Parts: sequence; structure tokens; C-alpha cells
Amino acid sequence: MGVSRDATKEEIKKSYKKLARKYHPDMNKDNKEEAERKFKKISEAYEILADPDKRARYDRFGKEGVYFEGGQFSWEDFTHQADLEDIFKDFFGGFGGGDFFSQIFGQGTRARTGPRAQYSVGEDLRIPLNITLKEAAEGTTKRIKVRLFEKCRHCDGKGGVTTTCSMCNGTGEVRTAHSGIFGQMVSVSTCPACRGTGEVIRDTCPYCYGEGRVKKEKQLSVRIPPGVESDNYITLRGEGNVGRRRGMRGNIIIQIKVKEDSRFIREGNNLRIKIPVSYKTAIEGGEVKIPTLDGRVKITIPPHTNSGKVFVLRGKGMGSLYGRGKGNLLAEVYIWTPKKVSRKAQGLLEELDKELGSSPEL
Ligand SMILES: [Zn+2]
Ligand SMILES: [Zn+2]
Repeated sequence: MGVSRDATKEEIKKSYKKLARKYHPDMNKDNKEEAERKFKKISEAYEILADPDKRARYDRFGKEGVYFEGGQFSWEDFTHQADLEDIFKDFFGGFGGGDFFSQIFGQGTRARTGPRAQYSVGEDLRIPLNITLKEAAEGTTKRIKVRLFEKCRHCDGKGGVTTTCSMCNGTGEVRTAHSGIFGQMVSVSTCPACRGTGEVIRDTCPYCYGEGRVKKEKQLSVRIPPGVESDNYITLRGEGNVGRRRGMRGNIIIQIKVKEDSRFIREGNNLRIKIPVSYKTAIEGGEVKIPTLDGRVKITIPPHTNSGKVFVLRGKGMGSLYGRGKGNLLAEVYIWTPKKVSRKAQGLLEELDKELGSSPEL
């Protein structure tokens, strides 16, 4: 183990921790057998070193002093499973050691749950939902109709009249003994005949043909938060199709599509709008009516306003997905030029141009 003879318990554990990670077979996929052998070897050493009594006997009598029923260390002799769980819990997301441990210590060592019925999970349902820009700005609640699988009432979702599974006698699990690298092992697995439910169908339900579910129409109300954009998803967990034979429900995934509004350009939570103003208004000032998401409002254009000037209407933009206030409406002014100019207007423009002078040179 690479520790000195007078190493403390902590030092031994630390060293074992390092080596156990290094030689864990699930992390040595290329050389699994060699890793298994080494992993077992260091576990054996740890078993002896971590136990003062075993260690004393080992020091006096060698291996024979310690062992171990059957003369050879086997995983049944290993009493530090808790340490292993501890060492590997951050590696395997808290599951206590990955596939390898359930293989060497059996199912019971892990979460001690045993096999469970394999319920099928219903398919997720994707539903596109069109909303207006105003609805996206303010948030809304939409009622939608969906057709999805619901539990069959006639057979209560079982798929028919059931009887106890003869392969597993209703336990839902089958045990098989086989010899592996660590000696005789019994593995417990989910019964393939009843998929762990302990029951099989004797008479198939004529309404759902054994599926345990039938298609039905359902009304749903979906809350859309303010600030959503196209391609945002809203997931309604556990509201989707029911799975086969009392399976769990899948999800409903609402795919938002915000309809374009040709008047507004969305810039995050702000909206931009381009406002045409006449030559006269731009020079002398005046009032113009502009559209917002809550109807038209008047804004005052001060005298000597040039194209590109932006007026900010606070709080007239989009709501925020994160609930922090509202964006603004940015009203950008441009000087409107008519497509057709009459002879009279041409004459007047000539005169005006002389009076006002030409634009400054850059
Ligand atoms: Zn069975
Ligand atoms: Zn049925």
C-alpha cells in the first residue's frame, strides 16, 4: 500500500483512497481484469492494516494468521464497504460505487432497494404554441387542447385481467447463481417475463389492447411568463402521455413561437420603433402619435430634431423573464420624404432651400 509500518489509521485510509481510485475497474476500462486484481489486492491490504487485531496477527504470523475463511481473501471478508462508499460517492453521483460494486457486493450493498418494477415512462409531447408580441411582453395564460394517452379505465391501466407471474412467483425478480472472478455469486435481476411487476396478463383488455392506456382529449392551461422569446420551452413535468400499463407520465414540452410584429424590433427586453416625422415637425417641433404594445401614445418632438434621435419611453418594452422590471420602448425618429413631389412643392422647396441654406459640409 506504500505506507510505513507505523502509519496511522488516517494515513492508511488516505493511501487506500488514492489507490482505490486509481485501480477502480470502472475507471480502467482498457485493462479491467488487471485493475480488478489490483483493486482486490489493495482492499485486502486495507482490510488487514485498518484492523488493529488483524494487523497484529499478520505481523506475527503472516497471511496465515489473518485468514480468512477459505484461506483466501474474498470480498465477503471485506468489512470496509462504508469506506468505499465514502471514497466513491463523489465519483458516482452518490450511488456508492458504480456497476463494479453491485457486481462484487451484490445489489443489496448499494442503496439496498433491490430490483424494482420497470415501469415504462410515457412519451413526451411537444406542442408548438404561437403567441403575440404583447402576450410575450406581459405574460399570459393559454388554454390548449391536447390528445394524449390516459390510463384505461376498463382495466385500471393493467392492460387486462392479470395473474401472478409464474417465472418469478410474483416477486418480480429472478436470482441466478454463477461463478465469477470473486467466487460464487448470486445476482438478482428484474424478471423478464413480467418486467418486475410480478403479474402477467391473462385476458387482454379489449379497450386498450393490453396497453393499459387510451388516447383522450385533455384541456390544459399553460402559464407563459413575461419576457419569453421564440424557441423558449416550457416543460410541464408529469403532464404528458401516461406510460404503458400504469407507467409514469412523460412531460409536455411547450415550444413558444412569438409572432413577428412588423412595427417593433426586439432588442432583449427593449423594443425599437422607427417614427417618421415630417420636415416641418422636425424643424418646428410638434406632437406625433406612436404605437406601443398598450395602444397609441403621443410624444412631443422638440424643435430642431434630426433623424436618428431616440426618445425613450420607460417601461413600455418587454417584461423580464427574471422578474426584474420592464424594458423600454425606443422611438427612433427619421425625416419622412414623400415619394411624389408636385410641381408646386418643387418650387416651394427651391425657395426654402435658398432661405435655409444647404446642409453643412463634412
Ligand atoms: Zn415475473
Ligand atoms: Zn384497458
